[in-house]
Amino acid sequence: MNVTHDLSGVLASDLCIGCGACVFADPSLELQLDPVKLIYEPSHAGNAAAASVCPAVQVDYRGLQDRLFPGAEQTPYGVVHSVVLAQSTDEGRNLRASSGGLIKELLIALLERDDVDGVIALGHVEGLEFEPRLLTAVDEVDGLPGSIYHNLPKPRVLELLREHEGRFVLVGIPCELEGIFQYIHTLEPHLAQRVATTVGLLCGWQYSHHALKAICEFKGIEFDAITDVSYRGGGPVGKLRIRTADGRTTSASRRVDFGYQVAFDRTFNTPRCHLCVNHSNFLADIVVGDAWLPSTVATRTGISLVINRTEAADGLLRELEAAGRVVCNDVTVEEIKESQKRRVAFGDFAYAYADHLDEVGVHRPILEGPNRPAAELVDRDEVASFHRELTTKLALQRQGRYRYLYWRKATKELPRFLARYWEWFTVRILRIKSLTGERQEIPREELSRFR
Ligand SMILES: Cc1cc2nc3c(=O)[nH]c(=O)nc-3n(C[C@H](O)[C@H](O)[C@H](O)COP(=O)(O)OP(=O)(O)OC[C@H]3O[C@@H](n4cnc5c(N)ncnc54)[C@H](O)[C@@H]3O)c2cc1C
Ligand code: SF4
Ligand code: SF4
Repeated sequence: MNVTHDLSGVLASDLCIGCGACVFADPSLELQLDPVKLIYEPSHAGNAAAASVCPAVQVDYRGLQDRLFPGAEQTPYGVVHSVVLAQSTDEGRNLRASSGGLIKELLIALLERDDVDGVIALGHVEGLEFEPRLLTAVDEVDGLPGSIYHNLPKPRVLELLREHEGRFVLVGIPCELEGIFQYIHTLEPHLAQRVATTVGLLCGWQYSHHALKAICEFKGIEFDAITDVSYRGGGPVGKLRIRTADGRTTSASRRVDFGYQVAFDRTFNTPRCHLCVNHSNFLADIVVGDAWLPSTVATRTGISLVINRTEAADGLLRELEAAGRVVCNDVTVEEIKESQKRRVAFGDFAYAYADHLDEVGVHRPILEGPNRPAAELVDRDEVASFHRELTTKLALQRQGRYRYLYWRKATKELPRFLARYWEWFTVRILRIKSLTGERQEIPREELSRFR
């Protein structure tokens, strides 16, 4: 494995995603919110041990998959046992959740087992602070938040695993599991016994705190008065809701609110997301995402896309189905690509962007996922122009010029912005691929069991 001598490249290129692995590899490190970048990152560059576990330096996907799924075939979609569309039959739980309410159903079922001692999942602390916590009782599960899209520090996962003996379920986004497993298998392999199973989220991106600062400015919300935030819930797409100390809740449609489109634009992502090749969570036993399919676009509540990477994961889902707690519909691996995008499934953009950063001499992580052979690299001009645009817009964010970014999107960027909407409309609503015979749609009657 390629190991650099410390985390200086990660700091210079703003690539930390906050997994927390480095702070256990080098105890002199602390994760802090950088006041300008507004992402969490280590206090200094640390040592070679920190670099050896850091997913912003490298990830050994092949080696980790070999350990986690011994003998299984590694396909461009990772190790796959089955792919299922699923939804909780508890309408309230489904509506409060980000997609189908699947994660909470899975966690409740796992906590009911004798061979599981607890679940380590993200919980709300206060304001914008969310932190992994240990749950041991079933009635704690519904108190967990839906998807939290802003950057957070996650060292607590490893801290809890190290503090507690037993067998635990971990819930995490892909890069978080990369850091955790690299740490475990490199430095404390005995901790592997404490991981009973992993429930992973599919993950397209997360945002720096600049996104929240920008939306606060557009909506007249006092940033420091935020008491809670939720990004999803209440239907398939859901709304962003920001609560403040004066008891006010401000909401914004994630699909049509222009302020939201500016503040949660791609350039507000934490920079490593542009290089991420593991959106579909190759290291988790069960992966849950949104079934963003043309055939599910009209459902009243969210439906989850579930990738079971092991037979045991598949068995757990079937148990929930037999108990009437979820409804399921088997689909093919193709639906992973169709429900997301090629860049999410295969890293078409990320691999090309990594090549570009090599050309311009910027540090980037070494990420060679199982999807690399399937990647159709986007044009070099496109990544070069993205890099220029990103550099400009990051500088503007860091100067707090959110209003300028608003008017920039409303003028200079408008044609591109409208083109993106048109693409969404033709694929999801007009179902252009189905009309041209490029894709076989899932028949409506097969989906009639979903709300
Ligand atoms: C940052 C982020 C980006 C995502 N991007 C995509 C995407 O591009 N495409 C897609 O299909 N799906 C994406 N998802 C997943 C999707 O939003 C749902 O979380 C997923 O489908 C599970 O929904 P659910 O209804 O089963 O779970 P819910 O009932 O909503 O439960 C969510 C669970 O995830 C945990 N959680 C929430 N936020 C985080 C976080 N930041 N880090 C770790 N754990 C967390 C909570 O503790 C809870 O247990 C993303 C999720 C996140 C957090
Ligand atoms: S990505 Fe994880 S291991 Fe790397 S610097 Fe950030 S917190 Fe540390
Ligand atoms: S897109 Fe990748 S790097 Fe970004 S938060 Fe998600 S898993 Fe992490």
